[in-house]
Amino acid sequence: MRRGPAVAVLAMIMVLPLAVLQAPTAPAMARQSWSSWAADNQPRVTTHRMGPANDRRVIATSVDGTPIVARHYGALDAPVQLVIIGQMHGSEPGGRRVARELGHRKVPDGVGVWVIVTMNPDGDRRGTRANAHGVDLNRNFPAGWQGARSGVYYPGPRAASEPETRGMVRFLTAVQPAAVLSFHQAFDLVDISHPRSRAAGRQLAAWMGERAAIVRCSGPCHGTMTQWIDAALKTVAITVELDHRVSGAEARRAATAVLRLGTWLGR
Ligand SMILES: [Zn+2]
Repeated sequence: MRRGPAVAVLAMIMVLPLAVLQAPTAPAMARQSWSSWAADNQPRVTTHRMGPANDRRVIATSVDGTPIVARHYGALDAPVQLVIIGQMHGSEPGGRRVARELGHRKVPDGVGVWVIVTMNPDGDRRGTRANAHGVDLNRNFPAGWQGARSGVYYPGPRAASEPETRGMVRFLTAVQPAAVLSFHQAFDLVDISHPRSRAAGRQLAAWMGERAAIVRCSGPCHGTMTQWIDAALKTVAITVELDHRVSGAEARRAATAVLRLGTWLGR
């Protein structure tokens, strides 16, 4: 058996990526220390992976073709099931840290947690509030939806026009969670707009060390996700507005508060 050429090709394949990695870096490096370059170029979110989940469901495929995944932690048959959405707006990635933190926690007895790191992977990649169609997903839900607007709150051509919205509607309808927590930035508060969610929101805020407040929507406030959950699922739907910069400590505190809320809801 002649292995020579095969080994040579294999060696080339293995060396090639190394050569790419060792290519000269940007000229800016010459006038900037490594530590300051690294600080300026840090990934916007933590890169550590989710912990092993009990279940994994693709709830939708984004406009650009990225699967939107829900992972389950804790008991699948627990009486209290929570849904945590780390990111809805691509320009607000802070909640992804909370979602990933939850993937490494021990979930209390009686609680199960569905974690969706992002429901807007295209917006995350682009750093935009909207999805790849320019639609604000938080104005696209079929609850009091209103069209004929443009700009950052563009609600789409019709209610639930976007695959991300339809996937979330299908998923939440199937799961019927006790509460849905949707993470945003950067008002630094827990929104208790919906009367049904007020007691739970106040608890969550207290455990997070944040204030609870009734938030008047910025821009037109029709077709938001929590409006749809409140009206259609009649369950707790809380928007959590994290700080502008989400520290590891804030993410850990939020994850702990989420799990405490699960126990509290099952009391
Ligand atoms: Zn937001």
